Amino acid sequence: MARLQPVRGTHDLLPEQARAFRRVADAARGVAERYGYHEMATPIFEFSEVFKRTLGDTSDIVTKEMYTFADRSGAEITLRPEGTAGVARAVISGGLAQHMPLKYFYAGPMFRYERPQKGRLRQFHQIGVELLGVAEPLGDIEAIALGAATLDALGVSGQVTLELNTLGNAASRAAYRELLVDYFEARRGELSRDSLDRLARNPLRILDSKNPGDRAAIAGAPTLGDSLDAESADFFASVRDGLDRLGIAYAVNPRLVRGLDYYCHTAFEFTTDALGAQGAVIAGGRYDGLVGQMGGPETPGVGWAGGIERLSMLAGAPEPPPRPIALIPIGPRAEAETLVLADRLRRAGFAIELGYRGNLSRRLSRADRVNARAAVILGEDELARDMATVRDLDSGAQDEVPLAALADRLAGLS
Ligand code: ATP
Ligand code: MG
Repeated sequence: MARLQPVRGTHDLLPEQARAFRRVADAARGVAERYGYHEMATPIFEFSEVFKRTLGDTSDIVTKEMYTFADRSGAEITLRPEGTAGVARAVISGGLAQHMPLKYFYAGPMFRYERPQKGRLRQFHQIGVELLGVAEPLGDIEAIALGAATLDALGVSGQVTLELNTLGNAASRAAYRELLVDYFEARRGELSRDSLDRLARNPLRILDSKNPGDRAAIAGAPTLGDSLDAESADFFASVRDGLDRLGIAYAVNPRLVRGLDYYCHTAFEFTTDALGAQGAVIAGGRYDGLVGQMGGPETPGVGWAGGIERLSMLAGAPEPPPRPIALIPIGPRAEAETLVLADRLRRAGFAIELGYRGNLSRRLSRADRVNARAAVILGEDELARDMATVRDLDSGAQDEVPLAALADRLAGLS
């Protein structure tokens, strides 16, 4: 039977959850459009190379989390673990770089082979934005403001705080890297095997480790702030100044690094403590090196991605669907008429629920179960007089209404 279970870490989205997810994506898309970011969609699978090149071969995603397989032609394919690499690939392969700046929004499933737990799945869903072609701090400010406005639109701002850091420019990171290597070399014994590997290949990544032993060693590590050169410090000051002017509160977290090689300058996360261990709801930053690293023209970029599962848990139950009207025919002639009446009312914009079978009481209880606002009962002799009975299912009141006036009568129900 195991094969008839969903794959571990995947979930069916039944209507209420699908609605909750759609609410997050719709709210985010609406806000994004007000900022001039329009939706695009890349395929959910790409050649593995797209992710290997951009995420770097030491990242957790590439080393442990990718869903990779050979397709029937032998091509190595990966289900996308995140959105930015695909967008960058699309910009390059579609020759879009000549139209900078580019502003995109996306929403859809992502796939990572993770240890499933609350808020951490193998198929999960993200919303995200990318701003390409803007090297100025204004781009970072706008991207963060767009994230804050999205959280506002979802009504969850009060549960979320913005953590901010800078990774500086390449020169600052190189200087910092040396300090960091010296520091961790002296503490090799405390580091996990993964972090020893990171120490050799990309020591900044150690700061991102969730291993408890690593965390203890990390606590005393030098921070990047002390290695920033003037350009990097100015850039960060401009970003903070913009956020201050917009009234967007943040806490500088010098330990916040992004796990990916191409990030520089601004790194940020909107986090919550309302969801237990999985606290990051939106994470992003600047990735000036990414498009160039993929073989495209050197292109600055900044963006973020947010987890729809986590955001929808924070936002709580979505608006219920519109309440339907139940049509309840009694007898074969009424049955036939109901089909046409349902069609007419649906075209007029009503949500119509047909019971399909059963007697009056069975159909009324079905109407209740689907939270119908009213039932329209169609008996043979009423139909003969071109009438129907409308029962208000909230008040229980009922009256006869001419069929010609039915739509108006139903529209009048609050
Ligand atoms: P984490 O530290 O939680 O592993 P991450 O750094 O891997 O997060 P990103 O790659 O920055 O996360 O993804 C952005 C957002 O997507 C996260 O902040 C989170 O809300 C969501 N997310 C990431 N991985 C998962 C997952 N496996 N299941 C559900 N949501 C996820
Ligand atoms: Mg992760």
